[in-house]
Amino acid sequence: MSETSPAVGLGQGISLINLPLPFHSPRSVNAYVVEGSDGLLLIDCGVDSPECRQALFGGLDQLGYSPPAIDTLVVSHLHPDHVGMSSHLTSTYGMRLVMHQRAAKLVDRYNDSAGFAQRTHDLAVRHAVPLSSFDDFVDLGPRPDWMPNIEQPDQLVEEGDAIAVGSDRELEVIFTPGHEPAHICLRDSRTGRLFAGDHILPRITPLVAYDELFPDVLGEFLESLRKIEKLGLTTTYPAHGDVLPQGSARADQIQLHHERRLANMRDVVKPLGTSAWEVMEQVFRPNLSPMDQRLALRETVAHLEHLVLTGRLRSDEENQRLSYLG
Ligand SMILES: [Zn+2]
Ligand SMILES: [Zn+2]
Repeated sequence: MSETSPAVGLGQGISLINLPLPFHSPRSVNAYVVEGSDGLLLIDCGVDSPECRQALFGGLDQLGYSPPAIDTLVVSHLHPDHVGMSSHLTSTYGMRLVMHQRAAKLVDRYNDSAGFAQRTHDLAVRHAVPLSSFDDFVDLGPRPDWMPNIEQPDQLVEEGDAIAVGSDRELEVIFTPGHEPAHICLRDSRTGRLFAGDHILPRITPLVAYDELFPDVLGEFLESLRKIEKLGLTTTYPAHGDVLPQGSARADQIQLHHERRLANMRDVVKPLGTSAWEVMEQVFRPNLSPMDQRLALRETVAHLEHLVLTGRLRSDEENQRLSYLG
């Protein structure tokens, strides 16, 4: 997809607009426009940066759509590359914001930068981030301009609900927590195809990060992958990268990746106890940036907690520090 042509029609009233992100990876996010005979719906909206706004509005213009004609914005999950621009779109164009019902209690947390800094600090203490890395690990810097506060959704949905796209088309909500606790996929009534958000992606496996409010995010993610695998999907629209020709097969591959990673981490944990930080250092590549260390540590803890909750490891807490025992 060339940078001068962010929008592309995919047929059957579905269009993709590729939006640039201020990250090293992923470098862009796919917003999708779904058209009914008398309604327009947008799935995901990118961060709130000038570049992202320009790409979204330029893409809509290229497709022949005007922003006020979009009545509904559905956000697949509460990560800034999917929900970041939502307040601008709802307040300026009156779009109705739709998210999974779990989002109701997560929006305030998304807006709470001080709370995130505190949770990152507690995570570093609990999982034994060494002194040499500690200050960089907990230094989150200022909240970026492209991540303004977001509003509560206008409509909360749950598994099995239908979101109308005008009067002749709807998107079925498939609840797929794991990558993020309020993640949903959407199945199109006209084509049977799935908008997968970040639940299944080509080439990379979605991050599954430990979450203080949800004890077994990896267990939820694996269950959500089995759900998608059973649907027997072919053409599937992910939020990053190219259209997936075999959605359900990709869900199966991602399950295998996590089964291998679980086995790998279990082997690393010693009988007398190993910290999550030590497991991370052995499983992930060396010399990660502080940002990548934060993500890798949360991914490691998600796996270790799943091993504990399924009886394959034990954990022991002493002086606010957690050890995992093989
Ligand atoms: Zn995400
Ligand atoms: Zn994403």
